[in-house]
Amino acid sequence: MDDREKVIKYIENNKDEIVRIASGLISIPSISGREDSNENYEKEANYLVTEFKKFGITAYKHALSPGGCNLVAQIPGTGNGKTLAMGGHYDVVAADEDDWKTDGGFIPTVKDGMLIGRGAADMKGGLAACFMALKAIKECGIKPKGNIQFVATVDEEIGGPYGMDFLVNAGIVSPDFFINAEQTEMKIIIAYKGCAWMEVKVKGVTAHGSRPSLGVNAIVNAAKLITRLDERGVKFTPDKLLGDGSLNIGMINGGTAINVVPDECTFKIDGRFVPGQTYDGVIEEIRDIIDELSKEDKNFKAEIDFCSRCTNAVVIPDDSDLVKSLISNSEEVYKKASELGGFIAAGDNCLFHKKGVPALMYGPGTLDCIHKSNEWVCIDELAEAAKIYALTALDLCM
Ligand SMILES: [Zn+2]
Repeated sequence: MDDREKVIKYIENNKDEIVRIASGLISIPSISGREDSNENYEKEANYLVTEFKKFGITAYKHALSPGGCNLVAQIPGTGNGKTLAMGGHYDVVAADEDDWKTDGGFIPTVKDGMLIGRGAADMKGGLAACFMALKAIKECGIKPKGNIQFVATVDEEIGGPYGMDFLVNAGIVSPDFFINAEQTEMKIIIAYKGCAWMEVKVKGVTAHGSRPSLGVNAIVNAAKLITRLDERGVKFTPDKLLGDGSLNIGMINGGTAINVVPDECTFKIDGRFVPGQTYDGVIEEIRDIIDELSKEDKNFKAEIDFCSRCTNAVVIPDDSDLVKSLISNSEEVYKKASELGGFIAAGDNCLFHKKGVPALMYGPGTLDCIHKSNEWVCIDELAEAAKIYALTALDLCM
């Protein structure tokens, strides 16, 4: 038997072990943004340290004080190979809904070939599949040239700085390739929309509400700008995987009292971009509309700036080693053509994209069931994911 056959067979024979690991992770209520979050992150990390130790892998905890406890484990390479990291977040959203058909979100339940519990799909099932990929390679006695890493992080659900941000920016995780095992229904997500959150400040001149002609109404001018933005939008060419670029005005704030002409109105725009657009380009297009309105009316004054989150759209070429390997291994495991897809945002993957590292989402479970009661993942899919992750590690790290 060659190495590939060995890991496939090992994983096929150890499906129960994937369910056991996923269940162990699910039973710890690692909800982000709570007083006890750190305590539960620590429990998740300790659980994984113990489980990795059982088959001879040392896992390390990494925390940026006071935020939380991440975990990195690896099969160290023998030299001169590439590093593949795989994993994702072990924080979850709350499971307070009372319509769980099981005994609640944190009591993992196996039923009809599914594992049910908070985080089953988002994304403790995916983490268990990654864990099993490393375990299969190690237990089959395979010695890769490059490192094969497992990474589990905190605070993804709340976009905090203590998770993947910290690991990547501190250089603790710096692979050549990254597989984020988020729930994609095993579609290989190679295209990611860019995103920029922008804030517009429209300035006016205050006056008494009974004599509006003496002032300049910032709310009225904001309405003019919003209308023009909405009518015109920004330029983009629809992408075959990502669809259209978009702008959404999600918040507006202005005025101090009903009888005062408001001198300021601010609103926020969530821009999502497709290849061909850049966040710098989009903000320039919006500035052009502001200039146009200023020329039409000398009292029109507005400025726009980014408030957070700037990324351009990313498409990982389908001839990159990571994508090629996932496509061929998916076809080997599923015996049918694999599907490529796009997603509304890159999430933590953008940290890798900024460093030029191909990083993509590919994992078990469906978006349809997450952040709701009765979250589930198919157990066969966990095993299929583990096989494809392991085979991909053999392709990229040997
Ligand atoms: Zn997730």
